[in-house]
Amino acid sequence: MKLVILDRDGTINADSDEFIKTPEEWQPLPGALEAIARLNHAGWHVAVASNQSGLGRGLFDVVSLNAIHAKMHKAVAALGGRIDAVFYCPHSPDEGCQCRKPLPGLFEQIGERFGVDLKGVHTAGDSPRDLQAGVAVGCQPHLVLTGKAEGLRGQPLPETYPAGTTVHQDLSAFADWLIARPAAAPRPAA
Ligand SMILES: [Mg+2]
Ligand SMILES: [Zn+2]
Repeated sequence: MKLVILDRDGTINADSDEFIKTPEEWQPLPGALEAIARLNHAGWHVAVASNQSGLGRGLFDVVSLNAIHAKMHKAVAALGGRIDAVFYCPHSPDEGCQCRKPLPGLFEQIGERFGVDLKGVHTAGDSPRDLQAGVAVGCQPHLVLTGKAEGLRGQPLPETYPAGTTVHQDLSAFADWLIARPAAAPRPAA
């Protein structure tokens, strides 16, 4: 199957230093939801891997997070697209979990859920840790210059980003790149 793994905050929706705590605070980036729908129409399944330490920090609860994701799913569906699954790390940084990016736990969960070997799976995000988590399990890293990476427009890529990172202006440009490119489907997990 054709699978892409996307970061959420700063990649699909506007990021906030104050965290996204309510559906009202969740606002899609221009063209991002349309990009997901275009990927779907080209046969790509989309999974989201997101650090949500606001849960562990007590800034919002799972009910609120579910409401945020319901808004996201509904907004994508209104454009004829679909996010197949949202995997998130609910822990705070000091909990020592295995799923907070840059650790690859969320990616491993996605691989298991979809029965996909993650080697060569494309992943897009706006911060080094997104890409480091993907690279740890063999994914192809893509940086979108939105969210935390918006300030990198027109700049050389800092060394904190993994080797082989492909840079795109935003999620729409990433989708266009992927759709235009004849890509081999990931192999089923052994
Ligand atoms: Mg992000
Ligand atoms: Zn975690």
